[in-house]
Amino acid sequence: MMPSADLFICGAREVITCDPGPRNPMGIIARGAVAVAGEKILGVGPEEKIREEFDLSCARTLDIRGRLLVPGFVDCHTHVVFGGSRAREFELRMTQTLAQVEAMGIKTGIPASIHMTRSASEQEIFKDSISRVDAMFLQGSTTIESKTGYGIGYDDEFRLLDINDRLDASHPAGIVSTFTGAHDFPPETDRDDPTQRQAYIDLLVNEMIPVVGRDKRARFCDIYCDEGYYTAREAEDILKAGLNAGLLPRIHTDAYANIGGSTMAARLPALTADHLNYTTPEEMDLMAHSGVIGVVLPALDFAVSHPDPVNGRALVDHGVQIALGTNLNPGNWTTSMQLVIQLACRNHGLSLAEALTGATMGGAKALAMADEIGSISPGKQADLQVWDLPSVNDLVYRIGNNAVTAVIKSGKIYPGNTLSDPLKLKGDHRCT
Ligand SMILES: [Zn+2]
Repeated sequence: MMPSADLFICGAREVITCDPGPRNPMGIIARGAVAVAGEKILGVGPEEKIREEFDLSCARTLDIRGRLLVPGFVDCHTHVVFGGSRAREFELRMTQTLAQVEAMGIKTGIPASIHMTRSASEQEIFKDSISRVDAMFLQGSTTIESKTGYGIGYDDEFRLLDINDRLDASHPAGIVSTFTGAHDFPPETDRDDPTQRQAYIDLLVNEMIPVVGRDKRARFCDIYCDEGYYTAREAEDILKAGLNAGLLPRIHTDAYANIGGSTMAARLPALTADHLNYTTPEEMDLMAHSGVIGVVLPALDFAVSHPDPVNGRALVDHGVQIALGTNLNPGNWTTSMQLVIQLACRNHGLSLAEALTGATMGGAKALAMADEIGSISPGKQADLQVWDLPSVNDLVYRIGNNAVTAVIKSGKIYPGNTLSDPLKLKGDHRCT
């Protein structure tokens, strides 16, 4: 008996599977189709082949009429949960220096966001965060990593973990939680005082991380290892505590200076090392050798006008597996992975194939979820997006455009932004 599908997606000009083959780096299938059963992909291939291989008699049909079908983006690096907004700071920074803005009595940077997050109610943060998740989802992100890190204290960080759980339970997007209690030091801690500094690290290592791991409140433990934040030695101690608690290690490093973070990440090894503006060629080789995934964050470099944008080309040429992320945070309010791909190609030396697979399969690998998501492959979650573009090349061509006309998450269809030619699902009555 042929396997029976309950959703048949046809009429694609191209299915871009992001499951590469020989001389087909994006895994493009011309006039392809996808059969879905429940939440999973049953089969993908040329439309005629799918019609032959699967029983479609009970399937609803979504004819996408010449559009493109693509895997949902996996946004593997975000700080989507925070309170408040720094719009005023950013507007002023267009024409004034940081010192001038601060002279007006306006708080800036991560400390400002920690203050706003601590001052907001849980409901306010949840409401703000879920509206950002909405925007990300409607631009194609079906799985979104979410870091804590604007609480920086026991109760404030656990409150952000609670919000991650609520987001995952109340939104169709998959939310993957990361504990980033070491995103900064608490404002009440003098980071130049070794005793005070160590006291917060002890709280992380001995009290917070063991509970996060024991209660499975997060999958990853992340840290900010850079000048002015955590040293490579401190980062190693914290990430090892995470490993002992069952949390996979990730690291923000080499963003503003090289203090040995990526060398340590390769030695540990960490699952991912993110930012990497000042990573040396030797360190790229170490990362490639130990399988550390390099997470490239083009929107952050754009948002802060980084003097040394990360060299994505060099990472790939040194054999580092890369992934892309928005790094949505209060200092880089970017919800669009499409924009991130455009910037990755235009500013960071990546090909469209490298950027698109980095935004899908690369992200899935960065979340240790490559068996479940990241490509249009049989057995994976039916996480898909429909693009209203004549060709995949148009993705890098049309800057700031939202190509998404529908998002499909775990086999369920969510209409996107098409008003002139909306997609219609046919055959609503199911066989029983
Ligand atoms: Zn980050």
